Amino acid sequence: MLFKCPLCNFTCKSITRLKFHFRTKHLNKGLNVCPACGKTFETSIRLTIHVMAKKDEKHKPYHYLFYNPRASNIKGLRKKMLRENAEKYFKVGDEEK
Ligand SMILES: [Zn+2]
Ligand SMILES: [Zn+2]
Repeated sequence: MLFKCPLCNFTCKSITRLKFHFRTKHLNKGLNVCPACGKTFETSIRLTIHVMAKKDEKHKPYHYLFYNPRASNIKGLRKKMLRENAEKYFKVGDEEK
């Protein structure tokens, strides 16, 4: 499977790699804009809380990208389910032959 970053042209073969890319290239660069609805926030923590609290189809795939095991506010969410949502949403095709 091939996955594409929603914010740039980066593609990769695993959702774990995409999450790493998203967190290091976008979240840690002062991006406090929700990639799902475009709302802006003062801090990345506020943005994370916003994304994790939204349960609609637009935000759901981003739960995995924003997921942080150390953030207590998202305890109880099943990581595997989050990953499957994200895989479906960010998949742009199968691996090239
Ligand atoms: Zn990107
Ligand atoms: Zn949003």
